[in-house]
Amino acid sequence: MLGEGIIQGLLETARNFFGSYVEKDRLVTVQYPEQRHPLPEASRNFPFLLYDGSEPEAGLRCVACQICEKECPPRCIHIEKSKDKKPDFVGKQQFYPAVFNIDVSVCMSCQICVEVCPFDAIRMDKVFELSTSNRFGGLLWTKRELAKSNEYYQKIHPTEAAECDDRREKELAEAQAKAAAAATAKAAQAAAATAGAGTSAASANGASGNGAGAKPAEVPAKTTVTP
Ligand code: SF4
Ligand code: SF4
Repeated sequence: MLGEGIIQGLLETARNFFGSYVEKDRLVTVQYPEQRHPLPEASRNFPFLLYDGSEPEAGLRCVACQICEKECPPRCIHIEKSKDKKPDFVGKQQFYPAVFNIDVSVCMSCQICVEVCPFDAIRMDKVFELSTSNRFGGLLWTKRELAKSNEYYQKIHPTEAAECDDRREKELAEAQAKAAAAATAKAAQAAAATAGAGTSAASANGASGNGAGAKPAEVPAKTTVTP
């Protein structure tokens, strides 16, 4: 029937309108911005950089490998690698980004940068109230604006953050076990070398003591006395 869909839509609207006076769930609108619907955990907007601890610069997980920069479809990430290195969470010396910018006016929220990052260093944020009158500077986010703590990540994506923390804890435990095994092997090697040196010294001393291999003592020449 012509207009059937329109009638059904109007009936649904009317049901929700009158029903909202008796059923809270039918109230689909809120008084934004005073009231807000909680965002679903999987919602995403633009990327941010994760750091551990309380110091954004020192704890930044990014090692400036530039994979995300190469894979970003609209090429809105710009990274410059540091000249020096700093230890990462397992104590390995790594580069860090001297410059890390994202032009969010170009970003299409595809999340490819997150998928390709091997270091769990970049994640998607949920912030959406980002309007600015500064089209260029206001939407070109630097490392300072992009850096957010792991606690923030745990708050906005708890399930994903818990999985990520578990994985990193395992990696840390493996790295520590590896380092401990290497230290034990090194200590055993050093002990073996010391023991070897001791045995050589002892055999050298023994050799000179029992005469074997030692130079024979010189016999004084017989003196002939003429009467
Ligand atoms: S979300 Fe997509 S477009 Fe945005 S920075 Fe990441 S890869 Fe680039
Ligand atoms: S965010 Fe990840 S993929 Fe991008 S440069 Fe940093 S470590 Fe590499």
